[in-house]
Amino acid sequence: MSTFTVINPATEEVVQTVPLTSAEETDAAIARARAALPSWRAVAPGDRARLLRRFADAVDADLENLARLEVVNSGHTIGNARWEAGNVRDLLNYYSAAPERLVGKQIPVQGGVNITFQEPLGVVGVIVPWNFPMPIAAWGFAPALAAGNTVLLKPAELTPLTAIRIAELAREAGIPEDVFQVLPGKGSVVGQRFVTHPAVRKVVFTGSTEVGKQIMAGCAAQVKRVTLELGGKNANIVFADADLEKAAATAPYGVFDNAGQDCCARSRILVEASAYDRFMELLEPAVRGVVVGDPGAEATEMGPLISAGHREKVTGYLPDGAPVAFRGSAPRGSGFWFPPTVVTPASAGDPLFTEEIFGPIVAVLPFTGEADAVAMANDTEYGLSGSIWTSDLGRALRVSRGVEAGNLSVNSHASVRYWTPFGGFKQSGLGRELGPDAVDAFTETKNVFLNAEL
Ligand code: NAP
Ligand code: MG
Repeated sequence: MSTFTVINPATEEVVQTVPLTSAEETDAAIARARAALPSWRAVAPGDRARLLRRFADAVDADLENLARLEVVNSGHTIGNARWEAGNVRDLLNYYSAAPERLVGKQIPVQGGVNITFQEPLGVVGVIVPWNFPMPIAAWGFAPALAAGNTVLLKPAELTPLTAIRIAELAREAGIPEDVFQVLPGKGSVVGQRFVTHPAVRKVVFTGSTEVGKQIMAGCAAQVKRVTLELGGKNANIVFADADLEKAAATAPYGVFDNAGQDCCARSRILVEASAYDRFMELLEPAVRGVVVGDPGAEATEMGPLISAGHREKVTGYLPDGAPVAFRGSAPRGSGFWFPPTVVTPASAGDPLFTEEIFGPIVAVLPFTGEADAVAMANDTEYGLSGSIWTSDLGRALRVSRGVEAGNLSVNSHASVRYWTPFGGFKQSGLGRELGPDAVDAFTETKNVFLNAEL
């Protein structure tokens, strides 16, 4: 049996060895998930709601344990990890309201009655990346289960521990074993079977745009439903009329949170030329002030990168002579550390400004005027999130409407709330997750006409 050795990215110590699910085992799990569908569908709406709430309670009771697992597996700060576990609980509670509200429509027709049903899709496969193992898993499984589907979840190979624990908690809460299964394993094995196995009716994929395109192409062969949450190169646009102190103080956290390993990281800062020098003056102490270190310590604001390989990739963006303006600090010695880094590329064509680095590097460039800011922000195939800093409400609205991205915030860097929709424009994704409509993505509308004149 092949296994994967989980390494603590802050210490490089071995945490645990996890067995990898084989293709045959994946097929067997898919068969069990399919067999479990009729009984899961038959659970009364109120009972399914209760089961999801019990699942939420089990997550809540285990919150500190889940958070600590994420700290050692992923190097997330303990503060972030607690939020992430709490997010799983909140999603389960939020979507526990759905089974009793899967209402259809009665549509007036001649000669009878016309009604619609929201039917579950069947078996749903959720493929999760390593950067936010808990929340991204729950964005898929919570609404999918609520809608009456059975779920197979593949965590990233690097970060399986919290998903494995969440499956145990589901069991303790009374969710039947075959209704929600976690299959640690390789994307090329387990994830690939979700795409190719005809009994899996939908794939929910979060990860790189490169792999997302392969998933979409693979799903096309069976007209399989697919939701994609992919990469981002998000712009933080700072106008001269903004509260520059606040904009500069918060900009590091808009990009360096989770060590920049965040699809919503504001990794491009566009600053109106007239405020550029002042903004950079304010940004420097803010970047130097980011507390980087032991992710288990309460005061830590940024931990290590996920792996040695990923640190190598991030480091590759800073060859000798790279336009580094200033950097924060990071521990030396064991651990995949990388300091918060600000670069000022000479042009908007520089890879530092165009490519998703997925690490703590932010590129700053000046712009002149609203139209220029919007054009620069949109000059990318990505379109996930972004921020707009201005004290002019009209401008805030105009620029918000102009930027091609799914999730924008004004005078804030908030991207994700479980009760608001989330997803990307352009090559940042397909479909939306979270919010009041997420369950729709896990149902088919069935229309039935009943002839009243026979
Ligand atoms: P990735 O390489 O695309 O992997 C994501 C997941 O897909 C992993 O579980 C991976 O398994 C699996 N996978 C890989 N190849 C596969 C294949 N051929 N068939 C089926 N599954 C496959 O991405 P990553 O490196 O883990 O994560 C970083 C990327 O995710 C970044 O680009 C980031 O922007 C994006 N991301 C986007 C969002 C969003 O919501 N838009 C959120 C988080 C991350 P293995 O673990 O075995 O590789
Ligand atoms: Mg990968």
